[in-house]
Order: sequence, then structure tokens, then C-alpha cells
Amino acid sequence: MKQLICLEPGSWEFQEINFPKLKPGFAILKIRRIGICGTDLHAFEGTQPFFSYPRVLGHELAGEIVDIEAHSAFQKGDLVTIVPYYSCGTCRACETGKTNCCTHLQVAGVHVDGGMAEYFQVPIRNLMKDSALSLDELALVEPLSIGAHGIRRSHMKSGDRVLVVGAGPIGLGAAKMAQIAGADVILMDVNDHRLSHVHDKWGISLVMNPLKEDALATLKAYTNDQMPEVVIDATGSAKAIENSFPYMSHGGIFVLIGLQLQAISFSHPEFHKREGTLMSSRNATKEDFQWVMNSMKSGQIQASDFISHRLAFDQVPAEFSGLLDPQNRVIKAMISMD
Ligand SMILES: [Zn+2]
Ligand SMILES: [Zn+2]
Repeated sequence: MKQLICLEPGSWEFQEINFPKLKPGFAILKIRRIGICGTDLHAFEGTQPFFSYPRVLGHELAGEIVDIEAHSAFQKGDLVTIVPYYSCGTCRACETGKTNCCTHLQVAGVHVDGGMAEYFQVPIRNLMKDSALSLDELALVEPLSIGAHGIRRSHMKSGDRVLVVGAGPIGLGAAKMAQIAGADVILMDVNDHRLSHVHDKWGISLVMNPLKEDALATLKAYTNDQMPEVVIDATGSAKAIENSFPYMSHGGIFVLIGLQLQAISFSHPEFHKREGTLMSSRNATKEDFQWVMNSMKSGQIQASDFISHRLAFDQVPAEFSGLLDPQNRVIKAMISMD
């Protein structure tokens, strides 16, 4: 069987390897869809922090079970997605159900090899399925769950104004889940194409480009001076994060989904005056996966809201760097392996 390995930044190689031997507690999947994520793009560029090479990328997966021992919930032929976060099960975070931030977390396609391969062996406890979902939908569950987790962390209520800063796939996922939860969503990005994509298709009433307008003034006018109750950062830009503190309402919550390397700073008096809450949001849990899957099943999320580009497995080495080019207007690229 074939796997695609990222040998070092900028370099791919297809390798012929042995078909995996089934381990107890695992299932072997024939991989059918692989979503390409910012993490994969940054790993290929060499700009992903804490990343080691060589590495098989790919953590947004949909596949068909081709081998599994007798199991009550899964069987051969099932179409599944995977929760790519391999948690230890014994640390304090795991004990309290926060498997998403396990002390010893290993993420498939990041810390250990992922699913850019014809077949991939996965722990059964990391599988999720819903026979009503398509392969495209199954492969989108993980990236949308990241946004879902941030929205659940914020404890937003229906009718709250939720400002999402950053309209990449993660920010768009957060915006979609906030919309499903009844928020009045406001979306900010410096990429007009992304803003117009959701403005027209999703019915998000306010989209804004802070390079082209006074974001603070627009938000004040839109919220009658109250400002958004929840601000979500999905940019991973220190500058964008620091600029977003003044966007929070009094009593508001600022959730950092995006990650960057530098220290951030903000005005303590301004933050204090608001009695603000600052939180990070890392990965997702099965509850988030389930919320996204249910929302897909009920038709509240369409795969076409996100998938903008499609490529075959063989095309990945030639096409991959083009996905980084903003000119190509990629929202989510999906590798199809039929
Ligand atoms: Zn991802
Ligand atoms: Zn743990």
C-alpha cells in the first residue's frame, strides 16, 4: 500500500509500505477523504511549531472499516471519521473529561503519523460514525469541531452577538456553530473573498474588513455601544488578538482558538473594567464531534459551505503548495480517494 510522507519542509515522497497488521483494540480503515488543514500547510512550509520530520500528515479523515475484531458498535463496511487526538486516559485532564487537552496528547498527523495513506490503523475508541453522513461530511467533522469546542467553551446564549475574527476554515466553523446555537454572528477578516463567501451564502448580517473600515466604530454602531458578548480569535495572529480585546462587551468572553508563538499583551485596566474572561480552546472532544455530526444530519451544515477545492491523492505533491496561495481562494481542499 501507498503512503505519502512529508520528508522535510517542502518535500513529499510516496512510499510503498506493508499493509498494517491489525492490533487488538484497533480498526484498519481504507481512507476515502482527507481534508487539508492549516496545520498540514504549515508543516509543509516548515512553520508549524513543535513539529518533527519525517511525518505522514492528515488528521481530517473519512474512511471505510476494512478490518476490525468483533465489536458492538463498529463493523466492516462502516463509514467513519476519527477523533485524531490520542489521549492517555490517566492524567488529570483525561480524568475530568478534558481529553482534548490531555497532558500527554498525541495528535495523529502531527505528533504521530496521520492518514495520508491508502490504509490507516486507528484505535476503535477514536472512531465515530453516522450512517446518514457522506464521506465529505465525515471528513469535515474534525475541523468544524474545533470551532464547536470554542463556542461551547464560551457558554454563549441564543441572541448573543458573537464576533469571530479570522475567516479561515476554523473561524468559519466557529461562525457556523455559533449561528446554529442562535448567535448573531459578526465575521471579521482581511480577505474580502472569504467575507463575501459567507455574507452571501450563510446570511451573516455583518462582515467587516478591519483594513478597510474602523472596526471599533462599526461594532459600536451595530451593537448600540454594547459590543459583542463573545469574541473568538481564529487568526493565530498576535496583532489580531491584541487588537480584539477592545471588541469585548462588559462581562464579555474572549476565546483564543488560534495559536501563535509570541507573548500577547493587553491593557489590564480596560480588561478589568469589563470583568472580562479570557480562555483558550484546544482541539475538541467527542461531544463537539457529536454536535457537529447532528448539525450535519439535520441539514444545518452543508459540505459545500466549506469544500472549495478537490484533488486526487496522486496530485498532492504537485498541487499542495498552490493551496497556500491566496489567489487560489482556497477555503477547504479535500483529497478524494475513490
Ligand atoms: Zn486540522
Ligand atoms: Zn491524558
